[in-house]
Amino acid sequence: MHVMEEQPSPLHRLMQTEGFKPFSGPDAIRVYRKAITRLNMENMDENDLLNAVSSLGVLLETEIALMYALQDQICTRCGKCCTQNKSMRVQKNELKQIAEHQKTSYKKIKRSTRALPRRDGTMKIKRSPCPFYDDECTVYPVRPGECRGYPANVLLKSIGGKAEYPTECEISDELLVEIAIKRALEEKMQRENPELMKELAEKKRKDLGRLGNMTQSQRLAYLVNRYQKTLNQGQ
Ligand code: SF4
Ligand code: SF4
Repeated sequence: MHVMEEQPSPLHRLMQTEGFKPFSGPDAIRVYRKAITRLNMENMDENDLLNAVSSLGVLLETEIALMYALQDQICTRCGKCCTQNKSMRVQKNELKQIAEHQKTSYKKIKRSTRALPRRDGTMKIKRSPCPFYDDECTVYPVRPGECRGYPANVLLKSIGGKAEYPTECEISDELLVEIAIKRALEEKMQRENPELMKELAEKKRKDLGRLGNMTQSQRLAYLVNRYQKTLNQGQ
């Protein structure tokens, strides 16, 4: 008798990734609760959502792209990242563009912000609050790439264990809620219509396999750097 080999579900496949560490602890509990309030749980299996939140220990490139795209749309402009975070890294050309925007010289702005040169050629500026903050960002069109990438850049590093979770930013949780809900719904669809999900499963397998020689932590750091480069001005 031919026995059909049972395929792992999308969530189990993610959780079987080598070196997988579940997203857990108080941050995961908060994300789970927020996801519950967003969903109509009558149509949703609680276990799917629990597994979906746990599975956030590994993120696909397509999901990371979604997070970067989404954060600009849902940022509430509360300014907490500009007033509570301690420092930011700025590229020389970014500071030059800020000087131009402020109609001042690069030298003056470097002095007034007490920008400290770092070994990697970037500069560190203290920001608590940021010198460019005055009820709102006064250099918004030319703000540094690090600000453009926030909070996804810190959030992703925190999932890789290389940074603190950016709890000061209220949209950090929302970005993960979005991914968790999407994954939980896909899990349900897989049970109801596995044929329909075949193509998606193959895309995900390829997505995960692209940087398969890296650990999850290295993979997330690599992807953050790649996105950060595109967000830094003039690069
Ligand atoms: S803390 Fe988050 S929500 Fe507030 S301005 Fe910064 S990125 Fe936007
Ligand atoms: S440059 Fe603008 S967005 Fe960046 S920390 Fe300063 S005030 Fe905030």
